[in-house]
Amino acid sequence: MKKKLLFLGTGSSAGVPVIGCDCSVCTSDSPFNKRFRPSVLLQYGQENILVDPGPDFRDQALKYKIKHITGTIITHVHYDHIGGLDDLRIFYFIEKKPIHCMLSKASYDEVKLRYFYQFIEHKNHNSKTVKFEYMILPNERGDTDFHGINFKYMTYYQGDMPVLGLRMGNLAYITDIRQYPESIFEDLDGIETLVVSGLRHSSSPVHFSLDEALAFTEKTRAKKVYFNHIDHELDHEITNKSLPDWAKLSYDGQEIEFD
Ligand SMILES: [Zn+2]
Ligand SMILES: [Zn+2]
Repeated sequence: MKKKLLFLGTGSSAGVPVIGCDCSVCTSDSPFNKRFRPSVLLQYGQENILVDPGPDFRDQALKYKIKHITGTIITHVHYDHIGGLDDLRIFYFIEKKPIHCMLSKASYDEVKLRYFYQFIEHKNHNSKTVKFEYMILPNERGDTDFHGINFKYMTYYQGDMPVLGLRMGNLAYITDIRQYPESIFEDLDGIETLVVSGLRHSSSPVHFSLDEALAFTEKTRAKKVYFNHIDHELDHEITNKSLPDWAKLSYDGQEIEFD
């Protein structure tokens, strides 16, 4: 079975272009400089696992003609990663099955606060607004099966917020990272391809800069890295020319295969 990762969005939390910004990247005509908020679709044959239903999900689903979602995984609960959760309800209307959502206990608690109405039974029509079935991960680090697909997961912290990293076979998806436990290199041992956030050249307290993301990649010994969660400081073409062959900025709509 062919396994593919489709980048639905490669931008940082504000997306690119940024509202109100006249910089050369935000005003660029290049489609490579248009970045939706960060999200990927893992495609296993007909099965689609959505990692992070971000605020651009509706536009992404229309643009990439997504007609089916097998389940969704939430890495963490910042708005740029869960702002589109409610838009998944359309798949409940189409498929008439609850939407399965895998996430940490901390993320679940926060989803319950922010999307409280999903959890309320309405007396007058005896149904919830959105039908989700949440699968809470039991540990900070481990292996799990989600719709017959094996995921290795690990936790690191963005400030106080726990973030899930994911490994699917020889591919890992590590977004919103700057601080991490050393055990992450055990979890990522043997991966071929890494997707990791590389926000910009200048440093950030909560994200890797490109240099930090490159150094992290070298420690994992991945053969190829795609940076995501990119802000408007980085022009796609100019930046990619400056990077080594094995490291590139990803772009919206890009597909990569994995095993
Ligand atoms: Zn983010
Ligand atoms: Zn800009």
